[in-house]
This record gives sequence, structure tokens and C-alpha cells, in this order.
Amino acid sequence: MPYEVLAVRYATRQARASEVYANHAAYGEPDHPIRMDYFFWLLRRAGRTIVVDTGFTPEVGQARGRTTLCAPPDALARLGVGPDDVDTVVITHAHYDHTGHVALFPRADIVISARELAFWTGTYAGRAQFAHSAEAADLDTLRRLDAAGRVTRVGGRCEIAPGLELVDVGGHTPGQLVALADGEGGPVVLASDAVHYYDELDLDRPFGVYADLAGMYRGFDTVRELAAESGGAVVAGHDPAVLTRFTPWDAADPGFAVRAG
Ligand SMILES: [Zn+2]
Repeated sequence: MPYEVLAVRYATRQARASEVYANHAAYGEPDHPIRMDYFFWLLRRAGRTIVVDTGFTPEVGQARGRTTLCAPPDALARLGVGPDDVDTVVITHAHYDHTGHVALFPRADIVISARELAFWTGTYAGRAQFAHSAEAADLDTLRRLDAAGRVTRVGGRCEIAPGLELVDVGGHTPGQLVALADGEGGPVVLASDAVHYYDELDLDRPFGVYADLAGMYRGFDTVRELAAESGGAVVAGHDPAVLTRFTPWDAADPGFAVRAG
């Protein structure tokens, strides 16, 4: 039975190409403004409610100059989902804009890449260029949930629920995950931050934050392969175009959420 797959926009900010793309000057193009939107994803069907990533809190967003449009707990409530309803939370990677509400779901199994969790609880997570992209309090929460037996580690390519596969592609972070879901409207590749913007895939341009640049290119290849293999649509992690490529969940408020599958 396929999932209703929603991409939910909870925040936004104005950025520039030079902050978004790695070494943008190499392309010989003028700098220009680019909007960055922030999403999480909801997959549900009879008997299953799966949240993929948890956004940031409005406080963390404000401290980082991001505008929260609808905090993830409120967005979930609007979609008819309470914290107790969620059985699985996938953390695609441990950056601050994906981990802010990981403790919200009292009965959820938390799924993360083994190498992602090992990295963010390991030697190099505290170094400035890595630490900047994570919230220490969220990493502590992940550690605490892990100690309580609430965390499931995955790696490679695995099916964590019927019709939902995760692929550990790395690149952007050491264990960045991509999800391949059986959606009601067809297969869906939730790229999360393996692909922030469609231009990354279309122009083969890595994002500016990465743990492994070659790994990020390899992640592009993997996302392309998953899309070709499944015939599915790719949902980029931060691209405002997600809102126009897919059908609004609420036609009266097309900026809130879209049906990606
Ligand atoms: Zn992100």
C-alpha cells in the first residue's frame, strides 16, 4: 500500500548563489539572490506515520537569521498528525535544520545512518566548520535517545518499512540519507540535502557545505540512478521549486505543503 508523501515547508530565507554553491566563482557567472526554503517530509498510510526530518525550532531559526513560517509541530497538527501518531522518525542527517524536534515523538523509532551518528558523536564534530551546521543540544538529544534504545542505525541501502528504502549516500555529511518511497502518485526520491536545489543535479553543481566533495558528486549520481530505476520524481531538500513542481496540499495555501507522491 503506497504512502501519501508530503513535502512541508516550515521556514525560508534569502540567500545568494555564492553562499549556496561550492566555489561559485569557478562558473564565471555573476552572483545572484536565491531563496532557500526549509522542508520536512511526512509519509503516511493506514497504520504508519513516518516523519522524515524534524526542522529547527523557531528559536534556533531566529538565532540563525531564518524565518519560521510554521513550526514543524504546528505544521504536523495542521496535517492532522500528533506526536503520538508518529511511529518512525528518519533523520536524514544531523544538521540543525533537520534535528530540532527529534525528541517530540514519544513512541517513534529514530532512524539515522550509523556513520552519521558516529561522526556527530565522534572526534571531528566539534571542529568549527562542522559544529557550525549542528546544534549541540540536538546532538545531545540524539545521544540520549540512543542510550534509551530509541535509535536504529542503518547503512548502505535498506528497506525500513514496506515501500520505504533508505540509501546512505554521504557527501553533504558523512552519512547523508536519501529516501525512496512508494508514493500514492508514483515513486518518490526524497533527496533531502543530497540535492538542495534542482540545479545541483541539472548543472552538476555541488552545494557549498560538504563533508566529502567527491561523495557529493557520487550522491548526485545515486539520486539520478534511483530516479531512473524507479521512474520516480526527485524532491530536492531546499528548493522553492518543490512548491511548483508538485500539487499543493491546500490549494488556498500553496506555500505550505505539496503532495510529492
Ligand atoms: Zn538542510
